[in-house]
Amino acid sequence: MHKNSQISQQIINSIRSVIGAQDSSLHEPVFNGNEWDYLKECLDSTYVSSVGKFVDKFEQSLVKLTGAKYAIALVNGTAAIHLSLILADVKDGDEVLTPTFTFVATANAISYLKATPHFIDNDEDTLGVDPKKLYEYLNKFTKQKDGKCINIKTNKIIKAIVPTHIFGHPCKIDEIVDIAKNFNIIVIEDAAESIGSYYKNQHTGTFGLMGTLSFNGNKTITAGGGGAILTNNQEIAKRAKHLSTTAKLTHKWDYLHDEIGFNYRLPNINAALGCAQLEQLPKLLKSKRTLFKKYEDKISLLNGVSLFKEPKRCKSNYWLQTLLLDIENINERDEILSLTNESGLMTRPAWILMHRLNQFSSNPRMDLSCAESITDRLINIPSSSNLIGKN
Ligand SMILES: *Cc1c(COP(=O)(O)O)cnc(C)c1O
Repeated sequence: MHKNSQISQQIINSIRSVIGAQDSSLHEPVFNGNEWDYLKECLDSTYVSSVGKFVDKFEQSLVKLTGAKYAIALVNGTAAIHLSLILADVKDGDEVLTPTFTFVATANAISYLKATPHFIDNDEDTLGVDPKKLYEYLNKFTKQKDGKCINIKTNKIIKAIVPTHIFGHPCKIDEIVDIAKNFNIIVIEDAAESIGSYYKNQHTGTFGLMGTLSFNGNKTITAGGGGAILTNNQEIAKRAKHLSTTAKLTHKWDYLHDEIGFNYRLPNINAALGCAQLEQLPKLLKSKRTLFKKYEDKISLLNGVSLFKEPKRCKSNYWLQTLLLDIENINERDEILSLTNESGLMTRPAWILMHRLNQFSSNPRMDLSCAESITDRLINIPSSSNLIGKN
């Protein structure tokens, strides 16, 4: 047999031996708890929009889970990043550092403010921002002026950094926070994919000045759509709530808005679903970890490919299970993608890197060779928490 089809077939056999003969999507939500009850309660109450007890309960549950002092529930994860950047005072003309290997929402939110996404490299231990490379780059290509970090090449202020915890795996966030502090750069963690993931026993999204979550339908838990900002800063929490509710001042009847605000609050009906899902999180995380172990037992027997494992001193939620091909198998990727999908197993390559998208192709960047190498070797495989239960 040709060497190529061999590895494709081996991968298919490995996945099949874990999940059985069923067709499988990449990630689907599981509603096995109080979802129907809470949704009915919400409808019966008639409070389906941005005010209601489920929104408060959802925020309190997020605080309890993450250990952040405050959680502000919003319509989606992109809005959470957008609002966080505003609260970090990111303005027209500023630059914001963000990995080139991330979902496009991160770079989009930066662009909404007419700020410029400035791309930094990822590392292979975590798939997230490489702190060593970040430090060397900032050291060489920035200067400090009036307490601000200036890009020497563009003369613009580097106001913030938005590191992503990719596929739920925590990046080296404490090192990144230290470096950012040294260079006067604000940290907003994009923890959209990492609810239930911990770095050195601390929940992701609680290391930076702000952290953002997403509750889209494809994430580990869902509210249909939804997002949140996490912060320990009372002032920022207050402003986040105010700005996301059209900057309306509390009054019995008057509609007085003291600045230009957003309609970004999470509707109560979404929060109802979110509350039920949060209750299920421990169970879902356990299943996802079991799925990882079963895949690992099989994939570790294969040559030329490995299953990505949570980084050291981290507990990952294993949102998306990830294969990394060895360099010599880089040309097999497309065949693996087509054969797995043809056989009813949904698999997906990495996102196209941000600096390769037309709209970001002329943005400032460092050397991005690690992300470029990872992206061509990476394949996500079926990852739903109900896969092993069904088998
Ligand atoms: C899902 C996701 C977002 C955006 O969340 P939405 O709720 O879909 O707007 C942002 N960043 C990353 C890395 C994501 O995976």
